[in-house]
Parts: sequence; C-alpha cells; structure tokens
Amino acid sequence: MSELFESPYRVPFDGSFRMARASTSPPEDTERKKDLKQRLADAVSELDSLQSTMYAQDRYALLLVFQAMDAAGKDGTIRAVLTGVNPAGCQVFSFKQPSSLELDHDFLWRSVCALPERGRIGVFNRSYYEEVLVVRVNPELLASQRLPHVPEGNALWAERLESIRDHERHLARNGTVVLKFFLNVSREEQRQRFLSRLKEDHKQWKFSAADLRERVNWDDYMHAYEEALNETSRAWAPWYAIPADDKHFMRTTVAEIIVAHLRSLDIDYPEIAESDRQRIAELQGLLK
Ligand code: ATP
Ligand code: MG
Repeated sequence: MSELFESPYRVPFDGSFRMARASTSPPEDTERKKDLKQRLADAVSELDSLQSTMYAQDRYALLLVFQAMDAAGKDGTIRAVLTGVNPAGCQVFSFKQPSSLELDHDFLWRSVCALPERGRIGVFNRSYYEEVLVVRVNPELLASQRLPHVPEGNALWAERLESIRDHERHLARNGTVVLKFFLNVSREEQRQRFLSRLKEDHKQWKFSAADLRERVNWDDYMHAYEEALNETSRAWAPWYAIPADDKHFMRTTVAEIIVAHLRSLDIDYPEIAESDRQRIAELQGLLK
C-alpha cells in the first residue's frame, strides 16, 4: 500500500463525507489561470516520466475513474491530464448504456475487460459506478439486467457497493492503483454550461434532452453520489471530490493528486542483475 497522500478533497474513509458541505468552487486564494496552467504542465510532464518508469518496471497499473454530473468537465479534464503523456502508455474507455452483450454478464464484467495492464494508465470516463448512480436514480433500468433476485429497498445498492469495494481491493492487491475523481459541479454552473452549449453552434452537438431529464433528478443523484463515495472511498481506492466550477483549478488539482500518489509508490527502473550487466557489456563490445 502506498503512503497516503493528504488532500483537502479526499473523501474520508469513515463515511463522514457530506455532499452539502463539499465545495464546488475553488478556494479564495487560488492562483491565476496562468500559474495554474504552469502547474498543470509540470504535473503532466512528471506523469509522463512516471508512466515510462512504470512501464519499464512492469509491476503497477494505474486506473483513473471519473464520475460527474453532465457538463462537469470529465472530457476536458481527461484531455488535460493525458495530453503530454506517451499515447502508447494510456487508454481511455467511455462507458455508455450497456449493450445486449454486456447485459448478458454481471455488472463488473465490461469494465474488467477494459482494465489497464501493468505499466499503463487506464482511464474510465464513467464506470461501474453508474450501476449505483444512474441505475439507482432510474430503477426501471434494472428490468433489462435480468437479475434472478432483486433485494427489497436499499439492499441492492448496498450489495453493489460491497461488490465494488471488494473488486477494487482485489485490484489494488494485485498492482492496480485505483484513484477516483468526482468532479463536483454546482447546479447553477451546470445550467450556465448547458445554456452555452445551446447558444454556440460548435457546442450544440454536445447537448441532449436526456441531460435535462437527469438534471431534474439532481437531489437523487447527490444522495446516490454521497452514499457511493462514503461506501467506497478507502485507503486502497480513494475518492476525491474536486470542485469543478473552475476548470483550470479542477484540471491542475486532479493532475497533481495523481502525481503525488505515484510518487509515493516504489516506482523505479528494474534492477539489472550482475550476470546481465556483463552480458550488456559484451553486447556493447560487439556493436563497436
Ligand atoms: P458527454 O459529456 O459528451 O455528454 P457522456 O459521458 O455524458 O458524455 P453520453 O453518451 O451523453 O456520454 O451518455 C452516456 C450515458 O450512458 C449516460 O447517461 C450514462 O448515465 C449512461 N450509462 C453509463 N453506464 C450505464 C449503465 N451501466 N447503465 C445505464 N446507463 C448507463
Ligand atoms: Mg452526456
């Protein structure tokens, strides 16, 4: 287990996270955009170098999970954090409504197929957490899942959260570093971003009527998020609730948290055995 990185945005592991108290805007003393951009560039450059060492070492994989309400800036944050990292070392999966093949399996199956292998960074744009978020808020979606038994009341969500907790613990034990980001946008900022999507020609394609329907369910979503974060933020797979109303602050904060976590791991180039060293010297001689 890595040494734990302290951040004011880390969701505590004792169930005390309250959505109503979580900040959606950056602190008063936040630096100017130019300085934030410089910090982001520094973090991304370090992430690139950590990833190449991770690849050489071939022991750890990094899984980054992003969840948020619509228009919180998942896509932009993923782009900002990965632009500058070797594309051969990264993969991004966006999880949409499950296909019929996916519905033929348990709810973790499709994401297991998309996990990063050792040495790589895998990003989940949405994830198996949708199963305790969108499905919880719209339980009619359960019908297509053909479960043999649906427990009464909240028991199904408690079971799913337990499965997720166990799954992430299993991943962590086997070398996948799991970091999860909830991009916490305010309802008002979402309204402004939807309006701007509707007003600008090149943004209209991003808007869907379904987004408005989900906005109506805002309070139900916040309740589902609060419970999901409390039940699954653990030392082996922490959640961070990042204020998302200022995009530059959000992107820089996410990038710096990732780098701080990787720094605390024993990521280093593999040791070369003495016998291999001699062989390498011989090979160098042959190339002269
Ligand atoms: P954008 O920010 O570009 O709109 P998006 O992630 O919202 O990207 P969409 O294609 O608009 O992508 O929406 C994907 C939809 O799929 C979301 O409404 C999400 O809730 C839904 N979805 C994802 N996983 C599941 C799931 N397991 N069950 C039901 N719906 C799901
Ligand atoms: Mg969408």
